[in-house]
Amino acid sequence: MAHTVKIKSIEPLTHDVLKLILEKPEGITYIPGQAADFAINKPNWEKEWRTFTFTSLPEEDFIEFNIKTYTDHKGVTNELRSLKPGDEIIIGDVYGDIHYKGEGIFLAGGAGITPFIAILRDLEKKGKLGNNKLIFANKTKADIIQKELFTKMLGDKFINVISDEQVPGFEHGFVTAEIIKKHSDSNLKYYYLCGPPPMMNAVGKHLASLGVDNEHIVKEGF
Ligand SMILES: Cc1cc2nc3c(=O)[nH]c(=O)nc-3n(C[C@H](O)[C@H](O)[C@H](O)COP(=O)(O)OP(=O)(O)OC[C@H]3O[C@@H](n4cnc5c(N)ncnc54)[C@H](O)[C@@H]3O)c2cc1C
Repeated sequence: MAHTVKIKSIEPLTHDVLKLILEKPEGITYIPGQAADFAINKPNWEKEWRTFTFTSLPEEDFIEFNIKTYTDHKGVTNELRSLKPGDEIIIGDVYGDIHYKGEGIFLAGGAGITPFIAILRDLEKKGKLGNNKLIFANKTKADIIQKELFTKMLGDKFINVISDEQVPGFEHGFVTAEIIKKHSDSNLKYYYLCGPPPMMNAVGKHLASLGVDNEHIVKEGF
């Protein structure tokens, strides 16, 4: 069932990512890592369903999304940039296969970080961050979503990989099998993967070359 809720706040998180805080729809339940169907409640937009991942935790009394906006065409994310507190969003079905199974390496590209924001925030709250690591790939330093949060949470277990500029202390280029191997450890059994399709393909191949079986790879099932 769809619920219409008001925007409580909407503000930039990076140069092209918005943080939206919405009223929590009544009766909604989700697990960290899951996403929901989402539409803007405005004429001509209310049937334009897109999918975004909760970055809030299920027990919080609001819901949060971190949304990368594409201003080069007139889609939903571009339209979001004109919204303000009090405007309405329709939240539909909740779904998604990504959830925490045990300690591992989280491999994210760009806005693919969102399921891991919820999962890692949940683990932090429960005091169970343990040895989990995050390898986060972006084009530039300015593209890193929730950089302060991850630095505070994970310290040196937060590894940045930047493709389009050299940043001291960060890996340069794409995520390679060597980078994954360097940070792997026999206690880190799971590889959590979310990012744009070319990254998913490349990292999937790296994991296969490192002998990781599918049973230990956690990603969306579509
Ligand atoms: C399960 C799931 C969870 C997701 N969670 C998140 C999330 O939490 N945060 C997030 O930011 N994103 C998330 N996404 C991605 C998000 O759904 C898309 O970015 C969003 O639907 C784009 O909507 P849009 O209407 O702006 O673009 P659309 O019009 O739907 O276009 C989609 C894509 O096509 C490209 N494109 C299409 N037309 C043009 C054009 N004319 N010019 C240039 N580029 C074009 C854009 O690069 C864009 O990525 C998720 C996706 C899935 C499947």
